[in-house]
Amino acid sequence: MKFRYQLVDRIPAQMRPDIVYHTEEYELAGLLCACGCGHRITLLVPDSHEVWDQGGFATVRPSIGVFDAPCKSHYIISAGSVQWLPAFSGTQAANIMHAQIARHIARDAKPASWLQRARLWIRKILQGDKAIH
Ligand SMILES: [Zn+2]
Repeated sequence: MKFRYQLVDRIPAQMRPDIVYHTEEYELAGLLCACGCGHRITLLVPDSHEVWDQGGFATVRPSIGVFDAPCKSHYIISAGSVQWLPAFSGTQAANIMHAQIARHIARDAKPASWLQRARLWIRKILQGDKAIH
């Protein structure tokens, strides 16, 4: 299976499993998790990820880490092909979230809401990690 690139006005409610949807207007990309679990992944473009069309196939940088679904998948998509990477530990995931949130805070006029969401995310990740091990 290879991910095709599709530029759209909005991320569709029903996504196909082999397309990375990109909306420049909303600065988002959407795809279904490459592992087949059906989890919807939303990427902030260009805030957290870059997505572009490579001969009709999608390239996404940096890697996609699925923190909020049971599969905990981690992979990179290059010209539509999925390359699997080692799963993040809960601590690594929390560190990445911290780094992303720090970037938001640096340019966000309302850092308090981001901090609140950050705390919830991190709590969720750490609890999820405990439940698995
Ligand atoms: Zn998955």
